[in-house]
Amino acid sequence: MARTDLSILLVEDDERIRMELLDALGAAGFTVDIAVSRSDASRTLRDDYDLLLLDLGLPDGDGLDLVRDLRAQGRAMPIIILTARDAPEQRVRGLDVGADDYVVKPFHLPELMARIRSQLRRIGRSTGAGPVRLGDLWADPSGRQAGLGERNLALKPREFELLVFLMRHPGRAWTRDQLLDRVWGSSYGGEARTVDSHVRRLRACIETDPGDPRYIQTVWGVGYRMVEEP
Ligand code: CA
Repeated sequence: MARTDLSILLVEDDERIRMELLDALGAAGFTVDIAVSRSDASRTLRDDYDLLLLDLGLPDGDGLDLVRDLRAQGRAMPIIILTARDAPEQRVRGLDVGADDYVVKPFHLPELMARIRSQLRRIGRSTGAGPVRLGDLWADPSGRQAGLGERNLALKPREFELLVFLMRHPGRAWTRDQLLDRVWGSSYGGEARTVDSHVRRLRACIETDPGDPRYIQTVWGVGYRMVEEP
């Protein structure tokens, strides 16, 4: 993926939400680190991040205390609270202790992504993860939509990410291991055939003749390549 040079720390103990956000943020080109508890977050926050996405109900404490600590230390990064606590007075409290935005679960993913972009714009950081186009094929990471001409493609999250990644590097050949590392993440530990099965599904969606692909080409002995000029 063409990484933006923007990094986000996601503090969230709910695995399902974490995975969903990791997929979406990764597809939008962010570098994402994860913390699953308050102490984990405090440790990870010795590094700098462009934005903090913070759950409040953490197993070892309250995210609000983390916001308070960060602001007391003079840390100015945008903080978006992401929580199930939806009472108006809780929202007021979250913003008053120093968060920049407050999003209530269950959230609408495109809105959350827009709020992240909005906070980054506010501090003068552009995500640079705009739409990408190759012939009739297009993908829009911010809206998580892809299509072929007028036709929208129904892609699973990882298929979408693989497509965007390949589209951002037309003409370049990738090994299956490289694709696993860059699209699935180095901690995934998946197998080469995972890549093959995703390519097969992508071809079924985007190629007129999947047996003679126009977009995603097989590079024998290497892996795959997105064609430069379809
Ligand atoms: Ca939680």
